Amino acid sequence: MYDIVIIGAGPAGLTAGIYGVRAAKKVLVLEKNAYGGQIINAQNIENFPTAAHISGVEFANKLYNQAKELGVEVRFEKVLEVKNYDDYKEVVTNNGTVQGKTVIIATGCKNRTLDVENEMNLAGRGISYCATCDGNFFKNKRVAIVGGGNTAIDDAIFLSGIAEKVYLIHRRDEFRANQKSISALEDKENVYFILNSVITRIIGEKRLEAIEVNNKDVISVDGLFVAVGMEPENEIFSNLVKINEAGYIIAGEDCHTNVPGIFVAGDTRVKHLRQLVTAVSDGAVAAEEAVKYLNKKDSN
Ligand code: NAP
Repeated sequence: MYDIVIIGAGPAGLTAGIYGVRAAKKVLVLEKNAYGGQIINAQNIENFPTAAHISGVEFANKLYNQAKELGVEVRFEKVLEVKNYDDYKEVVTNNGTVQGKTVIIATGCKNRTLDVENEMNLAGRGISYCATCDGNFFKNKRVAIVGGGNTAIDDAIFLSGIAEKVYLIHRRDEFRANQKSISALEDKENVYFILNSVITRIIGEKRLEAIEVNNKDVISVDGLFVAVGMEPENEIFSNLVKINEAGYIIAGEDCHTNVPGIFVAGDTRVKHLRQLVTAVSDGAVAAEEAVKYLNKKDSN
């Protein structure tokens, strides 16, 4: 029986692990993929206090090693279900079951898709959701990026150094991204802005060949990078905790869900600012709340 079972080994989950073991609790983190969460896709993090420049992969490695050194157990298993009993929770994974007195959900978000026909057929065959991972396959080729947030702008800057031509397609004429990044992108000579535009057709059979924009213009491209934001990854908890219409788990700044002993940390909960710094902050808060819950139970 673990004191705290944490689902997700991203920044929120691993930070919760660190706070849990430092409170002398027995902690298990379960992760279905690689540790690190979405941050591993970041080329260069500039806005985490004290780390002026750090790559997402380096950040994830440091955090993972720190958690392991402090005694957090991490297992790479996919969680299928969480059952809530009066005295404990049962976490069902692809490899068996685990029992915990408390659970912290830190499953983060996954990439949103464009929902245009043929997108999924060509995913991995010209269409990518991670410029950092796949950008180098497009050396001296023509690529398009869709989106107007920080990810899209950062991806476009990164790809402008690799590809011959970069089209940035955005559905409005204003960006969500910060001005510093937008200005840096505007300075790139091989970047072409296609604004007030949406992709209406994805063309290609075995590989991506072209995209159609606004039902008229066809642009031939070798690569399409989709950077249209994230959506929460918590369908498996929909019968366990309260979730809002947009799919985020409902919790306040104390990270309490509506179920006693089940907490939520990071991007997958309702919140205003989804950033690395707020994810790790949530991890600390959720773990401290779990510890308080455990200590209160023990004293009863
Ligand atoms: P985001 O900020 O949510 O931006 C998503 C973009 O995609 C928006 O411009 C949105 O357009 C567009 N979009 C959404 N659905 C679309 C659709 N179906 N078709 C076409 N366009 C669509 O997502 P993000 O850029 O991935 O960033 C996520 C969070 O991480 C943000 O808080 C961001 O600031 C942060 N982040 C920060 C950095 C950094 O600090 N350097 C780097 C990366 C990410 P509208 O604008 O019209 O809604």
